[in-house]
Order: sequence, then structure tokens, then C-alpha cells
Amino acid sequence: MSFFDKLKYGLQRAMQGRYGGADKLNRVLVYGCLIVVILNMFLHSTILSLVSTAALVWAFFRMFSRNYTARAAENAAFERLWNKAAVSVRQFVTRMKNIRTTKYFHCPKCKSLLKMPRGVGEKTVICGKCGEKFKQKA
Ligand SMILES: [Zn+2]
Repeated sequence: MSFFDKLKYGLQRAMQGRYGGADKLNRVLVYGCLIVVILNMFLHSTILSLVSTAALVWAFFRMFSRNYTARAAENAAFERLWNKAAVSVRQFVTRMKNIRTTKYFHCPKCKSLLKMPRGVGEKTVICGKCGEKFKQKA
């Protein structure tokens, strides 16, 4: 058995029963850390250095943790936040693309985002989510 085989089996044995690191939260922590380290090569900030070190320590703690349920719950909570942020960014980009042709507004009752074409004047709008009826100018 070569040295690298021994190393491989040793690492596999050491990682048995541990969470690992292939979830979204760990990827964001490691890649975020990498970006911050590269940025810090130009900025030389102590705070950024501490933040990147803390992110890396947290990523390693999660990788070697044996508490699988707690780490999976952390990742699920993170993915919920990530998806919410992704939807907000997508909505914002779409709104910016269509800002000249489409009027965006919120329902006064349930606050859901509604839209109508610009230039149609004042119309009665019925919210598709809660059924609230109100007048809106576009
Ligand atoms: Zn509504």
C-alpha cells in the first residue's frame, strides 16, 4: 500500500460519521472566504481578515461536526434565506427591465406585488392573492 493510499484510507476513516462539507452553506462560506481574502490583498483590512478567518473556522467546524441534524437544519435555514434573496434579486432585475412599460405596486391589504401596463389610466384592480379590490393609476 502506497503512502497516498494510506493517507486516503486514513482520511476516510477520520471523516466517518462526520457531516462533511458539500452543502450550500459551506460552499458559500468557503467561496465567500476566498473572495474576501482576494479583496483583502488590495484593501489590507484587519476586519475583513477576521471575517474571512471566522467564516473558514465555521466551515471547518461544520465539516468535522458529528451533529448531522443540527448542521442539516443550519443548511436548510440558510437555503430558505438564500432562495428568498434570489427571488428578491430576480424580481428587482425584472422590475428594472420593465420599468418604462410596466407599473409595479403593492396590494394595500396583503402587500403582494402587482403590476399593470403603463398608460392605461386609473383602473380597478383585483388582487389575485387576497381578492382586495382597489383603484390604481398607471
Ligand atoms: Zn392582496
